Amino acid sequence: MEEWLEGQVVKNIKWTKNLASLKLKAKINNHQAGQFTRIGLKVNDDFITRSYSYASAPKDELLEIIYVNIPNGKLSPILHNLKIGDKVSVMQQAIGYFTLDEIPDGENLWMLATGTALGVFLAILKTSPPWKRFKKIILIHSVRYAEELIYQDLIAEMKQLYPDQFIYLNSVTRSKVKGSFNFRIPEGLSSKKFQESTQIEINEDSQFMICGNPEMIKETTEVLKSFGLNKNRRAKPGNITVERYWV
Ligand code: NAP
Repeated sequence: MEEWLEGQVVKNIKWTKNLASLKLKAKINNHQAGQFTRIGLKVNDDFITRSYSYASAPKDELLEIIYVNIPNGKLSPILHNLKIGDKVSVMQQAIGYFTLDEIPDGENLWMLATGTALGVFLAILKTSPPWKRFKKIILIHSVRYAEELIYQDLIAEMKQLYPDQFIYLNSVTRSKVKGSFNFRIPEGLSSKKFQESTQIEINEDSQFMICGNPEMIKETTEVLKSFGLNKNRRAKPGNITVERYWV
């Protein structure tokens, strides 16, 4: 049975008109970086819930999620109006298996995200295991517009901490931006532009974690399969691990 507890809003950061991060104080059970939760609110007589990955690491004092305000949505417009001190329900126990424990060993770890899915990778990168296990970590974030390239301070800190190990690339698909690519993730891989830019080959020693737009996940998986990589399953380990929180 799902157990809920009360969370208190500490910050509601508005990055753009509809892209935001919510920081909460709540005494949830221990969880692993990469897991997600559900946020719930009573709307009239209904209890409306939605899933969100934690962008915060397990050691962080506050819980953090990234959300898109969908103006005619049921829950997100209410989240968007939350003020400091307001209450929301949050699940006591985090859920999901998109965690580093599920990723087989390899040389390089590629983390591919669209939009709000960046958060789950930040949570994992705020912990030490990925840095101990992989030679290079390549984080690729694809967004529609430049203002959606969020958490740049945190990413800059990671670059400073791991200058030889961490590579961050981004792609802004609906406008031309200096320093950013201008194509979708599957194209960046199939054209080998990401491989050229990072000087890193994709082979059986590569591990991929993919999260975000369901169509991106599908198309990227196909490209990676064409390179000879396979889905990672507990029964049959492979190179491609995906998270489908956005259904
Ligand atoms: P988005 O539309 O998925 O765009 C983010 C990036 O993904 C863009 O660079 C986009 O490229 C790319 N993309 C879209 N379809 C792709 C595909 N088939 N293959 C490869 N790349 C693809 O997401 P967003 O900008 O974060 O949010 C926009 C809308 O998504 C929101 O209004 C909301 O409805 C929905 N959303 C829902 C949830 C949820 O949990 N339900 C979460 C996030 C967003 P292009 O610019 O070329 O399309």
